[in-house]
Amino acid sequence: MRKTLWLTAVAGLALAAQPGPDSAAAQSRTTLDIYVVDVEGGNATLFVAPSGESLLIDTGNVAPAAAVRDVGRIMAAARDAGLTRIDNLIITHWHGDHYGGLAELAKRIPIRHFIDHGPNVQPNPDVDAFLANVYPKLYANAKHTVAKPGDKIAVAGLDVQVVTSAGETIKTPLPGAGGANPYCASFKPGENNAEDPMSVGVYITFGKFRTAHLGDLTKNKEFELMCPNNRLGGVDVFLGLHHGVNTSNSEVMIHATHPRVAIINNGTRKGGQPDVMQVLHSSPGLEDLWQIHFSQLSGQEYTVPGMFIANGTDQPLAAMPVAPVAAPGPGAPPPPAHDGPAYWIKVSAQQDGTFTVANARNGFAKTYTPNGRMGTN
Ligand SMILES: [Zn+2]
Repeated sequence: MRKTLWLTAVAGLALAAQPGPDSAAAQSRTTLDIYVVDVEGGNATLFVAPSGESLLIDTGNVAPAAAVRDVGRIMAAARDAGLTRIDNLIITHWHGDHYGGLAELAKRIPIRHFIDHGPNVQPNPDVDAFLANVYPKLYANAKHTVAKPGDKIAVAGLDVQVVTSAGETIKTPLPGAGGANPYCASFKPGENNAEDPMSVGVYITFGKFRTAHLGDLTKNKEFELMCPNNRLGGVDVFLGLHHGVNTSNSEVMIHATHPRVAIINNGTRKGGQPDVMQVLHSSPGLEDLWQIHFSQLSGQEYTVPGMFIANGTDQPLAAMPVAPVAAPGPGAPPPPAHDGPAYWIKVSAQQDGTFTVANARNGFAKTYTPNGRMGTN
């Protein structure tokens, strides 16, 4: 089984070199495929339904060189999936590591539907100029939606439910959810900037498979969504986790949703610090944590084994320090660069709830069957 999966992953890499809608992936698709793309501590997560319809959440980083790099990586995933357009694009919030590659991406592939939370609420001259002068032109010939909690995003074959947007959360539990959340009593509020709590968050089901991506939703909003009652229920795969930083990822969210797998979109020195890793490693029912990058903030004490990590740095380190590196303050040297070849983590989910997670760097893949599922509330 392992050998077959490994060969499948290698075949997937070979397909990346053969762009076009006639790829084998597009013709014989039966799974929901999710590509967690490495955009260096930003976010870009691509969902492709068996119908061929797609949803991209965020577009990577903003600086011109970073945007070209990150969009190149997003396009490699889109080609691997045989896409010729992006049917739906969510920009979770107006931070440069999320909307940054948008103008570049729109030059490279048609985007049919733009979804966001509405106006920027954390004034920034670059963001405000983009929203005034560039963004309206990008969606002028497409559909544009300001998302509200409770909205559904139409992707044939998937159920995509907006659960947070513009600081609001769903008030009614999702079907089957709504039990008392035992983690609320010990909740400790966290810090917010203005934009992270605005994040558009979605809960996606495909048959019996369930996943969630909440952008950079912060702890205080996690509490609003999850307390006193757990309005999400459970997930099989928790995606993103705000890069694994500690202004998000409270127990009221992570422990209460019982993810079997979590995939962090962290950077080489962004996210993965000890307090978050303690929450994740102790999460009830968590079978594996996968990381898009190794993080110096974890050190060997808190990191997962390298086989679960998709990317290193351009200049490989001789060894990972045992103790985590303290999160550096302002004026610290930049984090280790990774501008060279990058690898995604790909989730392939089946209707019956079985899913496989594969690391494109080393071909390591693991299948999670429904009968291994822990109970959820
Ligand atoms: Zn972010």
